[in-house]
Amino acid sequence: MIRHDYSRVDPKRRANLDYKKRQFAKAEFQQQNYNHRLNFYVLPPTAEITLDEFETWAIDRLKVLSELEACTFRNRSPEETTEYMRGILDKYLPLRSDSSRSQKLQEERRKDHYSHFILRLAFSSTEDLRRRFSRLETMLFTLRFKDDDLRERADFVKSLELEWEEVREEEKRELKEDLLAASGMVGKKSEEQEWFKVDWERVPELVGQRRILLKRGKAYVPQREQMSLVVAEFTKKLDDALELTARALSELDEDHRLSPILTHLSQSFTTPDAPYSTSDANINGLSTITHQQIDTLSQSFPLCMRNLHDTLRTTSHLKHYGRLQYTLFLKGIGLPLDECIIFWRRSFKLLTDEKFNKEYKYNIRHAYGDVGGDANRRGRGYTPYSCQKLLTEPLPGPGQTHGCPYRTFAPDNLVSVLQRVGVNDREVLKTVREDVGKQRYHVACNRVFEWSHKREIRKVKEDGSWGTSDLDTIVHPNTWFKRSWLLKHLGEGNVGVVDGGAVGQGEKVVE
Ligand code: SF4
Repeated sequence: MIRHDYSRVDPKRRANLDYKKRQFAKAEFQQQNYNHRLNFYVLPPTAEITLDEFETWAIDRLKVLSELEACTFRNRSPEETTEYMRGILDKYLPLRSDSSRSQKLQEERRKDHYSHFILRLAFSSTEDLRRRFSRLETMLFTLRFKDDDLRERADFVKSLELEWEEVREEEKRELKEDLLAASGMVGKKSEEQEWFKVDWERVPELVGQRRILLKRGKAYVPQREQMSLVVAEFTKKLDDALELTARALSELDEDHRLSPILTHLSQSFTTPDAPYSTSDANINGLSTITHQQIDTLSQSFPLCMRNLHDTLRTTSHLKHYGRLQYTLFLKGIGLPLDECIIFWRRSFKLLTDEKFNKEYKYNIRHAYGDVGGDANRRGRGYTPYSCQKLLTEPLPGPGQTHGCPYRTFAPDNLVSVLQRVGVNDREVLKTVREDVGKQRYHVACNRVFEWSHKREIRKVKEDGSWGTSDLDTIVHPNTWFKRSWLLKHLGEGNVGVVDGGAVGQGEKVVE
């Protein structure tokens, strides 16, 4: 489905492909027409898309799934999740109904269809990934099913031709008492509503909640539980398809350009990744930063950078990786190179000028891309590190302070550091401990962010100046800083306008 300048399979080999590969070779490369907003993703897409679309569509869907997962980690109720996800879905994966009369219906449905299949490919390799993917896709489907246009939803369900057996009138009469008891409608007429019969294994959720009648190996499900039936069917089909994909993975005639993208996508499932965006250094109301401001600005730094800053102030030194992590972060918030050099020079109080110039200055210039060859990214230097990078790199050794403290600190130390920077809510600290115990480091960090900015967040939500997608899960330290600074300076001059609240779509990304 990727647009090629050349065929993936050598034409000379094509005729000799074995029967398993021939199914790929014979695919009809054509555009599909999407009659329904909802999709059971039974047919894989076959039309061409560009490599760029392949990657960005998958990343957008991944963002949506990660946010859904964060909602479960945060114990958000179904209503809160729906509310929170509305803005996220509008931004990353909009999917309008026919009644909206939007010109972009087919475009949106196409992106939804392709992105699902790309992630299916990326997340079918291990049991754990398959389970998570299936759970989150089911949540997404349920969310959309609930808010679908009623008539369009009924048409969609009809189009599925699911194998539900309608309970006949005579059987309904025979089981009347049991059906009424099961549906909690004792005293009413069971004939008034439709009932379906399915194998009980297909509706485990309803069985668990005792909302149906179980008899002779069949589950009798009332019409009003239709959503559970459809959702159970969706999950079952997806689980079966994921198993098949997993088995077919090794036989795929893989395109060498796709494997790095697929690997990166599956890694991003652990901690969602976000590229650094130049908009993070472009904060309304904050003019060019100087070295003297860093102490004050450090109040708005995430714990990973705050820890480096405090260690630097206490010991007048940082080891190599800590310096690199912090320099790139400072560069990312917009500290110019000459100011950064002064900042480090003054911070390293115990060093002579000569030693500083000889052993440290070059590395700072290198990080900014002022010196260095090919490896130095065409003069732009290195990119500020994302949470994913900091959470997946090797753990720091003795005396090193780099990385993410939510991961690198022992829980007791983490709690004391958090208390030192002002996080004193016992409930928050308790849940941070739980998050960390389950290795949900960035969730713990976001929890702390929301607690430390709760008044400001309430305000921007109430006055509607920030949308949900401006308050999405933070997955980059530079986004943490930018958002924190903007929230703490609301109402000052032109501050408060969110310019790419997280990492904005289509913004210039430094490679
Ligand atoms: Fe820094 Fe990200 Fe860790 Fe938060 S989760 S402390 S922003 S690396």
